[in-house]
Amino acid sequence: MSNDKTSSSCAICNNSRYNRHFFTKERLMDIGDEFEYFECARCGCVQIAHIPENIDKYYPDNYYSYETRQKSGRFHAFVVRQIMRYHLGKFNLFGGLIYSLHKDKPYGWMKKGILDFDSSILDVGCGSGATILKMSCSGFKNVHGVDPFIEADIHYSKEVSVEKKNLSELEGQYDFVMLHHSLEHMPDQYQALKDINKILKPGHFALIRIPVSSSRNWRKYGPNYFSLDPPRHFYLHSVQSFEILAQKTGFELRYMHYDADNYARLIIESERYQRNLSGKYSDSFSKKQIRRFEKEINRLNRLNDGDTVCLYIYKPLS
Ligand SMILES: [Zn+2]
Repeated sequence: MSNDKTSSSCAICNNSRYNRHFFTKERLMDIGDEFEYFECARCGCVQIAHIPENIDKYYPDNYYSYETRQKSGRFHAFVVRQIMRYHLGKFNLFGGLIYSLHKDKPYGWMKKGILDFDSSILDVGCGSGATILKMSCSGFKNVHGVDPFIEADIHYSKEVSVEKKNLSELEGQYDFVMLHHSLEHMPDQYQALKDINKILKPGHFALIRIPVSSSRNWRKYGPNYFSLDPPRHFYLHSVQSFEILAQKTGFELRYMHYDADNYARLIIESERYQRNLSGKYSDSFSKKQIRRFEKEINRLNRLNDGDTVCLYIYKPLS
């Protein structure tokens, strides 16, 4: 499939008929440049028409969150470990109870029964590795990350490291490969999934978390949809376009769920973009309005119509 984004044919299903083109602006970093996107009339994938040559401009130093601070108290580590044990499918009443009471549903993306503390895990596009560090602190023994945009390799310990590399440069085989909101930033979607397939052991899963166009907020806000994030997000898949991509690269889409619980900012920012409001988002709306947006995002999640999804793709044994 072509990666030529100078044409207006869909990079996922190749359709070029009746695609809806529109222009939208960079808003998150207040740069304001305008970009052309289109929505495929066949598979529903929204994509940038031309990948900017100067894409680095849109990742200023303050874009990345290099949050690596840990709450390292013994009790906190104990609690997180119990939640992890619960997620791993081990009987754990305490972990299950804490998880069900916890507002933010920590590690809600972790599917029961497919990981163990000994699993070899790779986080692709992990920044400075905040997620793998937290996983390591809660008992995972073999966690690595890769990110082409960090300054240099980071070695936290023998078992925890982040390499400055592209996905295509990786070798080795992993039990689990995960991409937390990084696939949508990659120019060649087919190459990315083929590269993941190459380094994943057969009979194992990869986790892809992405924003989607299969969402009430995409239909409501369109070019002002916060989760579009032009021009950094080259692709805003529909569930259908993602499934086409997964199937054509040797995967089966086995499980998915919407995972934007409690993240009211997704609606708040879309509202602000639509109303052309500037300044801090906390100044734009009252606490009552923000609570209403939070209820709304949770309602959409329950209806499988929220902004972001968590997709588990399986590499068959043969
Ligand atoms: Zn398409």
